[in-house]
Amino acid sequence: MSEMLSEAPKSLADAVALLAGANGAARVLAGGTDLLIQMRSGRLQPELLVDVKGIPEMRSIAAESGGFRFGAAVSCMELVEHAAFARTWPGLTDAVKLIGSIQVKGRATVGGNLCNASPAADSVPALIAAGAVASIVGPGGRREARVEDIATGPGKTSLAKGELVASFLLPQRAPRSGDAYLRFTPRTEMDIAVVGAGVNLTLDAQGVCSQARVALGAVAERALLVPQAAAALIGSKVDAAALERLAAAASAACRPIDDKRGTKEFRIKIAGVLARRAAAIALARARGKN
Ligand SMILES: Cc1cc2nc3c(=O)[nH]c(=O)nc-3n(C[C@H](O)[C@H](O)[C@H](O)COP(=O)(O)OP(=O)(O)OC[C@H]3O[C@@H](n4cnc5c(N)ncnc54)[C@H](O)[C@@H]3O)c2cc1C
Repeated sequence: MSEMLSEAPKSLADAVALLAGANGAARVLAGGTDLLIQMRSGRLQPELLVDVKGIPEMRSIAAESGGFRFGAAVSCMELVEHAAFARTWPGLTDAVKLIGSIQVKGRATVGGNLCNASPAADSVPALIAAGAVASIVGPGGRREARVEDIATGPGKTSLAKGELVASFLLPQRAPRSGDAYLRFTPRTEMDIAVVGAGVNLTLDAQGVCSQARVALGAVAERALLVPQAAAALIGSKVDAAALERLAAAASAACRPIDDKRGTKEFRIKIAGVLARRAAAIALARARGKN
């Protein structure tokens, strides 16, 4: 059995050099709430762990360009306790709040939630609906990618060797905007989404929806952006008919698997129901009612 090395670099450049220079399997270690479990079960045996929690850029939450940038290694608890962030992005905050127990949230990160690439990851549909952009650093320098382009399938991402997600940028909020995330689980907590739905919308001064993004989790091999569902809302007053069209478009976009936690038919139906309910919450928030 080969030895495993563990490094804790203090800069992004050093982290990238370690990841890019590794001969065998190398993994970023953030909170470890997915990775350590996979290693303990024998599913993964990396030769190098690169602990990124000591890298300042990956641990900060700051205002930027009228929006927020937060580090990929900020813990879920730090994010949900950031009052200005939670006020601006209540739906994304709800999604992050759902990740495990208080203890898990004290360690777990949004970067890890995304890069673990589970189709059921709770923060990912909410990030996609929010229009979050990831800043990725690697041997070729820095690049940006939309969150919906990072996970490609269960356990797989579009990150190249040596690349890591450094931070996420949430855009400036237009007035009369609201977001929401809902998930269905058989238990009330500490469970994985059978379906998740994130909706983010903006109303114009007349109360007509001028912009919307809708994303679904656990209904395909990765979280899905569903432009057809957003199109059902845009140009409407988000009335009952628009919500029905949204639900139908959300259900139509699903390509789920059957498993012990839910059948295909059940997931397809619930995706429509959750998208409709999340849109109603996002609408109330956009109207200033929480
Ligand atoms: C009891 C329990 C309950 C849970 N409940 C939920 C839940 O309700 N909802 C949910 O979505 N998840 C849940 N999880 C899963 C897990 O907590 C989350 O996915 C968490 O966000 C993972 O973050 P982490 O920092 O611990 O990631 P890690 O375990 O450190 O990393 C996960 C993967 O991502 C990679 N990675 C991490 N950060 C980066 C980065 N910045 N750049 C590139 N790659 C990176 C790692 O190499 C690894 O492959 C639960 C886990 C436990 C143990």
